Amino acid sequence: MQYPALIIEKDKVRHNAKLLTDKLGTFGIKAAGVTKVFCAIPEVAQAMVEGGVYALADSRIENLKRLVGINVPKLLLRIPMQSQAKEVVEYADVSLNSELETLKALSKEAKEKNKVHQIIMMIDLGDLREGVWYENAVELAGEIVKLENIKLMGIGTNLTCYGGVIPTSTNLGLLVKLGEEIESRYGINLEIISGGNSSSLHLIEKNEMPERVNQLRLGESIVLGQETAYGERIENTYRDAFTFAAEIVELKEKPSIPIGEIGMDAFGQKPVFQDKGLMLRAIVAAGRQDIKPEGLIARDKGIEVIGASSDHMILNITHAEGKYKVGDIIEFDVNYGALLAAATSDYVSKIVK
Ligand SMILES: *Cc1c(COP(=O)(O)O)cnc(C)c1O
Repeated sequence: MQYPALIIEKDKVRHNAKLLTDKLGTFGIKAAGVTKVFCAIPEVAQAMVEGGVYALADSRIENLKRLVGINVPKLLLRIPMQSQAKEVVEYADVSLNSELETLKALSKEAKEKNKVHQIIMMIDLGDLREGVWYENAVELAGEIVKLENIKLMGIGTNLTCYGGVIPTSTNLGLLVKLGEEIESRYGINLEIISGGNSSSLHLIEKNEMPERVNQLRLGESIVLGQETAYGERIENTYRDAFTFAAEIVELKEKPSIPIGEIGMDAFGQKPVFQDKGLMLRAIVAAGRQDIKPEGLIARDKGIEVIGASSDHMILNITHAEGKYKVGDIIEFDVNYGALLAAATSDYVSKIVK
């Protein structure tokens, strides 16, 4: 095997997807599996589908292209670029939108291809990332329904992404209310009311999800077994479907404080050190080009990640449970940011098991 590596156990991904889709199913809610954090590796996306997601969703067309071989609806999550209108219509069955001019471009492309492109209109309920401001939502919907070869099949919202706003029965209740106003004003039926991402799951637990919300877009909860409103583990899911593995290239006892006058580190920061005496320090061959060191937790609970430069990550293994030598492999759990970094780094080999 080539290191550093991101090792993915697809059975665990399938298990997590099944547990979540079964639970949502009892509430009449379907889940789109979000693939962006692992760059839509097809075998892993396939495991999500086997686990029960009805569709696959990604923020990038480049990733959706990797999924053409999997026969489920594809959703484009990020508001499309006008310059990509053609690819959007080609590779996404549904896209999430908030800009009328872009929708006109999609309408034109869809007409040329003799296709109907379905869209979910995104409504900003206060998180201040994407979406038409809620007060203007009904009006924008009125413009969208006039567009040829575009079908307004639903509305949705995205919370806890930028502003950290937590989904509640109040803000999602407003989403439903806006949907019903759109339906009665324009005489249409909205097939989907998309109630957000993994941060909306806590409402299911509390039985507070408004009735008409019938779709969620789930990434982190399937991939890492965590809900994202409060960062809690989801019972009976795997937290370790993804493993980051790196090889020890140096192992030496050294002081914990550098010797000499302290200037700036490789990233222009002035580092601060705490004297912990002599330490057994391991360098693994991985760095900020591969990973976010702050988001790694060694599986060996005695190992501490001290820091990293571009290509070297330093570990304190003084209190490690295991015995290590140069050439050994250290395994880590990843958080969302570390997983994203590893998945997008060309230097990290991806192994699907
Ligand atoms: C990334 C993303 C999601 C998935 O979020 P998770 O917290 O990983 O479940 C859902 N919707 C949109 C619009 C996204 O960009």
